[in-house]
Amino acid sequence: MEDNQVWTFKPYTRQSISKAPQWAFFTQEQREVISVVSLVLPFRVNNYVLDELIDWDNIPDDPIYRLTFPHRDMLREHEYVALRDLLTAGAPQAAIDAQVSIIRQRMNPHPAGQMTHNVPLLHGKPVAGIQHKYRETVLFFPSAGQTCHAYCTFCFRWPQFVGMEDLKFNAKCSQNLVEYLKLHPEVTDVLITGGDPLVMSARALRAYIEPLLTDELAHVQNIRIGTKSVAYWPQRFISDKDSHDLLDLFESVVTAGRSLAIMGHYNHPRELKHPIAQAAVRNIIATGATIRVQAPLIRHVNEAPEDWAELWTTAVRLGAIPYYMFVERDTGPSEYFNLPLARAYEIFTQAYRIVSGLARTVRGPSMSAFPGKVMIDGITEIAGEKVFVLQFLQARNPLWVRRPFFAKFDPEATWLDDLVPAFGEKHFFFEQHFAANDDVIPVELLDDDEPLLEVME
Ligand code: SF4
Repeated sequence: MEDNQVWTFKPYTRQSISKAPQWAFFTQEQREVISVVSLVLPFRVNNYVLDELIDWDNIPDDPIYRLTFPHRDMLREHEYVALRDLLTAGAPQAAIDAQVSIIRQRMNPHPAGQMTHNVPLLHGKPVAGIQHKYRETVLFFPSAGQTCHAYCTFCFRWPQFVGMEDLKFNAKCSQNLVEYLKLHPEVTDVLITGGDPLVMSARALRAYIEPLLTDELAHVQNIRIGTKSVAYWPQRFISDKDSHDLLDLFESVVTAGRSLAIMGHYNHPRELKHPIAQAAVRNIIATGATIRVQAPLIRHVNEAPEDWAELWTTAVRLGAIPYYMFVERDTGPSEYFNLPLARAYEIFTQAYRIVSGLARTVRGPSMSAFPGKVMIDGITEIAGEKVFVLQFLQARNPLWVRRPFFAKFDPEATWLDDLVPAFGEKHFFFEQHFAANDDVIPVELLDDDEPLLEVME
């Protein structure tokens, strides 16, 4: 990077990647992989990722390349071959679309009950663009923020990027959100998420955020913005034409007496090493906002404990707060990316052991599963049985939080659904609460009304 370099955002997609200067580095085989796999999964990079983050001497193994570019193993072999053969034979679009659709449906496009159990009701009707899974936190998906500066190949929101419209969340304005929040004084946090809300102009974002700052919604104390722009386009906080307006907006949230938390999505320490990325963190913190660092653990991308330790320690040095290591969700090309829970626990623990107490604000490895955020807290032996020690960090029912529970150790398990209770139990303690045919579990029914003793039996 040159000093004072002027940056203009330039995205590349399936249609335009061949125009990127780096296209010359690709073998014929890699080009084929991109054209086949990106039919199924979303693909988008930008000039900053290409020019500054990927090490082109190390493709296809470079972690940022793996993070953003399609790989053959993201599809099962027979799926890849079938799709490639259709393309090569010049098959009609309808035949290609049909094959793509079969593969997408196989990839569990709506994990963790998102489309059913997390959509709240307002005056008896489901509210578009809002999810309310945990009592104190509402997720808001503004329609203008449903894309990203680049796409991560593992992204669990992939269905919305490929136009599976029925699986899309978005809200055109914050009116319903405001109405809903007025009726829910228990909500202290609103998480604005996407996609990436910071693809929006500062003006559009202000229109969503300002209505949350009124006295009527004084119970909304914390506004969080989930974003990967800090890694994929840190120029958003430095040199974009409305960067100043954006930072002003951040400042006005803080001045209004609310906390503004930027939930920064960093997958690899390289993303935070770049001088532009570091300057972005400094500019965000200078507004009075905080920035937290979180990411899923992804095979091929960030499976070295040293990388996590470097990410967390760099974050601390810059004034950011290490927050979560997530377990990769059971959706999309998860067979390509996931790691056994036992290995995730080992990686987390090894990284945690080599950082100072300031970086140990991080929690994990944590699964954002249907009943809540479940952390693997240990692997141990109790009464002769090897077990996973688990606990909820967040749960549909707040009374489940921090109650330890145990699963039989399984070296192959990659997700909560793979686990069975330890000690010969038939069910985990929380499973009695889910009836098979429930469409919606209203959050109101799962709060303190539930007697503690009943839950603790
Ligand atoms: S930035 Fe976030 S929402 Fe966008 S593709 Fe990556 S993981 Fe998905």
